[in-house]
Amino acid sequence: MSKLETKCLHAGYESVEGSTKSQAVPLYRTASYRFDSTEHAANLFTLKELGNIYTRLMNPTSDILEQRVAALEGGAAALALASGTSAVFYSIINLAKSGDEIVSASNLYGGTYTQFNDILPGMGIKVNFVDPSDPKNFEAAINEKTKAVFCETIGNPALGLTDIQGIADVAHAHGLPLIVDSTFTTPALLRPLEHGADIVVHSLTKWMGGHGTGIGGIVVDSGKFDWTTGKHPLLSDPEPSYWNVSFANDLGDLAPLAYILRMRLIPLRNLGACIAPDNAWLALQGIETLALRMERHSENGRAVAEHLKNSDKVEWVKYAGDDKLASKYLPDGAGGMVVFEIKGGEEAGRKFIEALGMFSHVANVGDARSLAIHPASTTHSQLNAEQQAAGGITPGLIRLSVGIENIDDILADIDQALAQA
Ligand SMILES: *Cc1c(COP(=O)(O)O)cnc(C)c1O
Repeated sequence: MSKLETKCLHAGYESVEGSTKSQAVPLYRTASYRFDSTEHAANLFTLKELGNIYTRLMNPTSDILEQRVAALEGGAAALALASGTSAVFYSIINLAKSGDEIVSASNLYGGTYTQFNDILPGMGIKVNFVDPSDPKNFEAAINEKTKAVFCETIGNPALGLTDIQGIADVAHAHGLPLIVDSTFTTPALLRPLEHGADIVVHSLTKWMGGHGTGIGGIVVDSGKFDWTTGKHPLLSDPEPSYWNVSFANDLGDLAPLAYILRMRLIPLRNLGACIAPDNAWLALQGIETLALRMERHSENGRAVAEHLKNSDKVEWVKYAGDDKLASKYLPDGAGGMVVFEIKGGEEAGRKFIEALGMFSHVANVGDARSLAIHPASTTHSQLNAEQQAAGGITPGLIRLSVGIENIDDILADIDQALAQA
């Protein structure tokens, strides 16, 4: 079983449940699991045997989700978490602590920017932001304290593509892993591990789940990064909260699982941002049709971008498929995100959003349905004009997350709203 479309439906659940023969992935709504004996219980706690203990740590439904996404990304292991936000947070605190630093692209999802700019520094982890357009900018910001490099596949809000390979080369030259948030691309369009990234994070809430029904996140590790060099003491030093295990050095055959196993046993176990089994199940349900949906999102996104470019009511249009790196990183399509600047500034932007009929006005992306938002009057309204400009939020900027409806209906809704604006 090697092709992505097939993995979307089968990976992690190749043979049906032994006891029930359930064809679809079962949803295990349980908090805990019975031990066979005190010896069995003791073995599970000391990792002599692997098995279920408590759903904060692991759950059979979430386990299938983890195996499936790891297979889709070509990774060694994955850990599902409560949200994309907690996935980003755990990906960092699993390798960096107070006194350490991270180098990150500056064009991030808003929530991640705030986490990096305001929350991590409060915990003693400094994040150095760089303009991601040139890998050399990452190099210049790396120092002795740096523990990882972070970027997203498609930047926010200008939708530029990130040169993952170029940035991975820089990170590796300094003995650092590259963490890539691939929420906007999904493994159906781009697999960062194939371009040198070491760790991939996703918000499952967006295109992976695909239906806007549940919140979730996931971290996938390639299993190839060398954590034994001493540069990452959190992984290589004995872990006082877990039997003094050195995850980098003591796992033997399980060494490729070091990063994900540590994330499960230290941050997840003790901070507790586990995914709800119901949300893991919803994400799995969505992933079954991921390849088909991304194909249609990409087809519709491209058509909307071209249509807007031809409108005299539009100043400019940005689409990831137009980026100079698109042929390298997005040969199979560039997804459904389109941003454009409407003529007439903030006033026209608000009117356009209000005039939309089929498009929903929501603070989300990656729903099967088409979504729109006017950042200047909503998500970024707390910023002053100067800060908005620095973040690339122009007054008439409209962000569309183009859905998988019929393209005729999508374009008709956009046209009537443009006419009213
Ligand atoms: C939505 C999003 C997140 C956060 O995910 P949640 O599931 O909403 O917590 C992180 N990164 C990107 C790129 C996103 O779009």
